[in-house]
Order: sequence, then structure tokens, then C-alpha cells
Amino acid sequence: MDPLNPPPAPVPVPTLAGPACTACGEPAVVNWLRRPTGAEVADAIAAEEKRREDLLLLADQQLPTPEFGPLPTGNGMTRSVYACATHAITLDAASRIHASSCMAPDPAVLPGCDCTPEVQAPTPPSDSVPVKLPEHWFPATDGQA
Ligand SMILES: [Zn+2]
Ligand SMILES: [Zn+2]
Repeated sequence: MDPLNPPPAPVPVPTLAGPACTACGEPAVVNWLRRPTGAEVADAIAAEEKRREDLLLLADQQLPTPEFGPLPTGNGMTRSVYACATHAITLDAASRIHASSCMAPDPAVLPGCDCTPEVQAPTPPSDSVPVKLPEHWFPATDGQA
């Protein structure tokens, strides 16, 4: 091999930015939430325990020992599931939180899924006073209203 003329370096494969579809690996365009599995909850608890251990090791001995709240539980915890346009579930299903066992996006049952997703509690109305728009901002009804 000629050391002065090395072969051209292989062109690096561009890495995809952002999440990929769970089913096929294409860039994701939609996502929804599901509950974490037992293993994911255990991971989250282990990570929090490690964080606390590290904080205690680094803590200033002159100061009171840091107080920590209760360890996380699976309650309220969610995981994002990503899908491309081909493997997207329905918009209605994507607006809900799916079971930890949900296999979506599962091409066998798309655009549905194999769990009964939770209905999320409606967001409470904000306290803000509704603004009154000018009359001429409303579309003309042409007497057909
Ligand atoms: Zn896909
Ligand atoms: Zn589901």
C-alpha cells in the first residue's frame, strides 16, 4: 500500500437525529405514552438510589445529611413509544396512556393496539378570564348559522 496515498476513508453513515420507529427503525413522526414495565420501574429506582449514594458521598460532612423524599414508584411514570407514519396507531389511541404490556406499534393489529389504554383525566380549565374578541373577528355566517 502506498503510505503517501492512503485509500479514502469510508464515508460515515449519517446517524439519525431524534427517535426512531419502534417497529421498523425509520425516523419517528408520532409518539404516545405507555406505563413502564416492572423492569423499567426497577431501573428508575436503582438510578435514583445510585444518585442519592453519590450525593451522600460528595456531601459536606459539616452540613446536615441531605434529606431525600420517598423513592420513585411506577405511579405517574410513563415511557414514550415512537412510530413512523406507517406504524402509527390512531390519533385517539395515541392521546391515551397505554399499558406497560402494550405491544404497539404491532403491525399485526395496527392502527389499533393490544391493550385498553387509560383515559387521561381532562386538564382542569385555567383560571384565566376568556378574552372577548372583536365582533368582526368572527367568520361571517351569511345567515346560514
Ligand atoms: Zn415504522
Ligand atoms: Zn395499547
